[in-house]
Amino acid sequence: MLKNYLLTPGPTPIPPRVLETMARPIIHHRTPEFQRIIQEVEEDLKYVYQTKNEVLIFTASGTGAMEGAITNLLSLGDKALVVRGGKFGERFGEICQAYGIEFVALDVEWGKTVDPKKIDDILKKDKKIKAVYTTLCETSTGVATDIEAIGRVLKNYEAALVVDAISGLAAIPIKTDEWGADVVVSGSQKGLMIPPGLAFVSVSPKAWQMIEKSTLPKYYFDFKAYKKALGKTDTPFTPAVNLMIALREALKIIKEEGLDVIFERHKKMAFAVRGAVKVMGLELFSPDAYSDGVTAVKVPQGIDGEKLVKIMRDKYGVGIAGGQDELKGKIFRIATMGYITATDLIVCIATLETVLSEMGYKFQLGSGVGALEETLK
Ligand SMILES: *Cc1c(COP(=O)(O)O)cnc(C)c1O
Repeated sequence: MLKNYLLTPGPTPIPPRVLETMARPIIHHRTPEFQRIIQEVEEDLKYVYQTKNEVLIFTASGTGAMEGAITNLLSLGDKALVVRGGKFGERFGEICQAYGIEFVALDVEWGKTVDPKKIDDILKKDKKIKAVYTTLCETSTGVATDIEAIGRVLKNYEAALVVDAISGLAAIPIKTDEWGADVVVSGSQKGLMIPPGLAFVSVSPKAWQMIEKSTLPKYYFDFKAYKKALGKTDTPFTPAVNLMIALREALKIIKEEGLDVIFERHKKMAFAVRGAVKVMGLELFSPDAYSDGVTAVKVPQGIDGEKLVKIMRDKYGVGIAGGQDELKGKIFRIATMGYITATDLIVCIATLETVLSEMGYKFQLGSGVGALEETLK
């Protein structure tokens, strides 16, 4: 018999209160009952986004909204600046390519964070850049980006600031309005604690002006259609009704605890994880720019990283994430967001110790859990 624990940076576990709401009979989406759900969800999303802007809701995974953040903002001939410090930064570049948008790639070594000054330097030279694409938490490397500093740079330019906060929202702070983030993209299956299937974007007045002029092709992710529908408390297409109901409950839970309390909890948990792995002799992958939502750890010499993740999952029921692309087998990642609790971390680090020890890694068994407990208490 196996009991499952999920500590991956998406999907994340779902609170029972949320799960229960999804078992209720389906309701029709063109009804006053569903309109109330749209209203509540919209209001609470604004709270989580810390914005007065509209937050548009799509039935899609997060990437759908990333694509929309390109096709709605830009026109053929426009240029973009894409910060690429991991798999998800690269994705913005891939989408630009798919739509024939020329972009300047600001490549950042994986595990490091972007220097906002470099963005300033590029924008100073290239006046054709209309939007800067960044990632709040680069989930593939466990790196957090200083969006506030980038926002300060962008205040001096016309270019819009786009932030992929798919794994960052409700996990680590993002002050959409205060930091001047024009378009903030997110998804349902990470800090928001519901299953995959919903994507979100907040859109600033400045971004709406760009959207008015945008000529790139779009249909399903046409932001204007969603704005128009939202104005009538409606959706342009059939929404994921049950996910919306789940989201309403998840947002209630978030509001009850309070964003600041949540961020402090994640911070403490991530700090404890970093401390625990270091005591075990392991190295952090991004020691200078870590995110408090996910911790990336280097797989020690002589250990098969893919096998480590597989044994933890298949033999012990503990799901952590491995590395992606060039980091395959080289790192593993432990999430500290959403419904992942301190108790889950104790289970996770204890299992990590068990499996590493089984695989022949030499360290003091129990040292990681001990350090974790010291920090968490
Ligand atoms: C998970 C994630 C994505 C991809 O989202 P999907 O829901 O898989 O489309 C994009 N960016 C970041 C930073 C992510 O963490």
